[in-house]
Amino acid sequence: MSCKRRIKVKDKPCKYYISSGVDGEAGFCELPSEFRCIEAVRHCAPRLSFSAVNNWCKCRYCYYLNQVKGVQTQDHMKSNPLKMGGIWDKVWNEIFLHGVIDLSKMANIIRIESEKEQLGEKETQILLALLRGIHHIGFTPPHATPQVLMQYLIAGKMNLIGYADGIMENKMLFEVKLSSKPDYYTTLFNIHDQVGTYFLAEKRLEKVVMLVTRVPWLKSVKRFEDEDAEEHGARVFKDVCKRPSHYFQGWDNKTKKFGKVFYRGEFDLDELRDKYVHIAREIPEAVKLDAMYQEKGNCMSPFKCDYMDICISGGVSEGIYRVRSDKPKGGGA
Ligand code: SF4
Repeated sequence: MSCKRRIKVKDKPCKYYISSGVDGEAGFCELPSEFRCIEAVRHCAPRLSFSAVNNWCKCRYCYYLNQVKGVQTQDHMKSNPLKMGGIWDKVWNEIFLHGVIDLSKMANIIRIESEKEQLGEKETQILLALLRGIHHIGFTPPHATPQVLMQYLIAGKMNLIGYADGIMENKMLFEVKLSSKPDYYTTLFNIHDQVGTYFLAEKRLEKVVMLVTRVPWLKSVKRFEDEDAEEHGARVFKDVCKRPSHYFQGWDNKTKKFGKVFYRGEFDLDELRDKYVHIAREIPEAVKLDAMYQEKGNCMSPFKCDYMDICISGGVSEGIYRVRSDKPKGGGA
């Protein structure tokens, strides 16, 4: 893979090149249709987010679309589960920040964000029911610093960054998930690399608590066939109060807490570090060799890939996708 539009200039590798600002890290392309500079990715250690690494491990083509071409799903085309997860994260930011559940304030966040995301009324009511439910059962919320930048740097080799949902005194980290497959996130094998990366990034970290909530999907059949969104929400609320451990994984009625705890000693961090060093080397090599191939066996694993439409149709529909707008402004050397 190389760029045919490259114009060499005196003070930078290409007229359109935008530096990432970090030495030895691949920069961006000023052209509106491009995101990352493909020529730079051929030579530099990339900065990787935790999710970019996941994409790479899942499917090289998925990584290429997301990280190199900067293709993203349009906000209104995001799936409902993705929208709900994003809104639930925002609710938890507030919970961590204040250490209490302020019902009306948080319900307001759900309503505002649902409107922004164009989330359906039924899904909005489900989120509200979960919020009311967790408050009603007397959950003791942790007081933690939300959205903490985590960075794992191996000089000249890789720069891995991500955000922790919540951290308490650099010793305990909270990871929030809203999922229809909660078991996935409470199994060490599945979360080993993501959670292990937190331990690599923060040496003082002792444990990670996975705060996994099950998405309630109560069937609307027979006598519930005609229920409206609010009635559905009321039914979900009742169910959440009746069986909290079904929704909040690891719910303890005595301590009024939930979550699955993982300790540093459970993770093979040397192996994980080596894996990342390999990945940082593999990415530029794959670009040079034009080896960003599709890994079709992973399209549905663990969830349907955002890029299925592109891979099936062979084209990028503007109604579904857009190019990421978060590249730095041009002019950097
Ligand atoms: S749909 Fe499948 S082949 Fe295409 S990018 Fe996603 S995982 Fe890869």
